Amino acid sequence: MRFVIRAGKVLTPKGCTKGQVIVEGQRILGVEEHYDPSSQDQVIFAPDDTLCPGFVDVHVHGGGGFSVNSGNSDDVIAMAKAHAVYGTTSVLPTTLAAPMEQLLSAVNAVRDAAGRVKGASILGVHLEGPCLNPLQSGAQAPGSLLVPAEADIAPLLDAWPEGLVMMGAAPELAGGLSLGETLCKRGVVASIAHSDATYYQVQEAIRHGYSNVTHLYSSCSGLKRVNSYRIPGVIEAGLNLDELTVQVIADGKHLPKELLQLIYRCKGADRIQLITDGLEFSASSLTEGTVYRQLNGMDALYEDGVMKLTDRQSFAGSVATLSRCVKNMVEAGVPLPEAVRMASTNPARLAGAKRKGAIASGMDADLVLLDKSLAPRWVMAMGEIVK
Ligand SMILES: [Zn+2]
Repeated sequence: MRFVIRAGKVLTPKGCTKGQVIVEGQRILGVEEHYDPSSQDQVIFAPDDTLCPGFVDVHVHGGGGFSVNSGNSDDVIAMAKAHAVYGTTSVLPTTLAAPMEQLLSAVNAVRDAAGRVKGASILGVHLEGPCLNPLQSGAQAPGSLLVPAEADIAPLLDAWPEGLVMMGAAPELAGGLSLGETLCKRGVVASIAHSDATYYQVQEAIRHGYSNVTHLYSSCSGLKRVNSYRIPGVIEAGLNLDELTVQVIADGKHLPKELLQLIYRCKGADRIQLITDGLEFSASSLTEGTVYRQLNGMDALYEDGVMKLTDRQSFAGSVATLSRCVKNMVEAGVPLPEAVRMASTNPARLAGAKRKGAIASGMDADLVLLDKSLAPRWVMAMGEIVK
């Protein structure tokens, strides 16, 4: 059966057009200005809505009550499906620092899930850690952090070599630079994560293969003052160096609107990936003021629409969805087509997912209709209507 989606606006790589998107099976057949549907075609008529490519979240730890770290492939499928309903049709399940055994079983679970999932896509796996700097541990379990020069992380890199898309590490740790080189050689995105590096250490890291910054501003070093002198850090490097793309948690809590505007000014629309950094609590309903025990043993308090550590000194992760992040960027002054690019095209490119992130002939049928308030009203993932 063919679907014909007639939306008020269609966001394509060529811009915002009027037209109809024709879907057959799991693929987009084409975008046509004029098309006469046959009696067998199912027509979706949405004259007030904007049709966008499905969102791609490259940094998400869970959703719908399920955590990637559980090591259960059914959980990974359930979390991918929970996000799909909100318009995130592809995810890159992301591990939190944990003991090696747990990480290995998580990677195996994601691999198994990727082969079985329907109505959502799993693009591989993202290891956030465990080689992170304790000085910037944020919500990562401090007892599970490793120094690359002292730890044997080869089993982790070899667990699913073709599925390992990205690894976040602190390049200033002993062995951090050679880890960057190893990742780069393997075609894995090396992202500067939970790092206390100076600007100059970041420049060195770029020469050793690092190309991305994990959640800019969160668990990142910033400007320090040593006597009279100012030493810029990861934040300033992320903003200033064109070699780096940056992940941005645009849940409207982690970063105020003014910082979203500053990042957009510095990086432009092509060097930002919107992420949720969502925990297992994202894409589910939560009770204000409740403390939830995470799988890594860390407690998180749901307050003011975000998860915090119980001492309220740090955020533990967001509960936002990417559609909410797109809306926040638009409210910060970013044109909708560019905000969608940050949530769809850019992360798809980062993950090497060639058939994701754009509405064009031959691409996967991952589509979201946003209503006038930018809420996802209808979602198709791999040709299946999931909302
Ligand atoms: Zn994270």
